[in-house]
Amino acid sequence: MQRLIDANALNKKFEWLKNGQGLKDVLFLNGAQAVVDGMSTVEPKRGEWIHAVNKDFRTCSVCRIAMGMIEGEELSRFKFCPFCGADMRKEEKG
Ligand SMILES: [Zn+2]
Repeated sequence: MQRLIDANALNKKFEWLKNGQGLKDVLFLNGAQAVVDGMSTVEPKRGEWIHAVNKDFRTCSVCRIAMGMIEGEELSRFKFCPFCGADMRKEEKG
């Protein structure tokens, strides 16, 4: 199964890693960034959590896999579906 990641966040991490590094490491990280930037992209899936059997379960509207919730667990912790990677954040307007 594909694992979708945020390439922009990864590039920010590379920039952070370059701080205080020698030229050799910076060049290596530049190469890694070039590889990331050259990867194909996919249209991000958007989904939402829908109620399943009862309040202790939530189902992803994209992959339809249900997830059990531990008592007191915040659904907001899951910005992405852990099964299919769908973006579960509310679409920002503007
Ligand atoms: Zn899903």
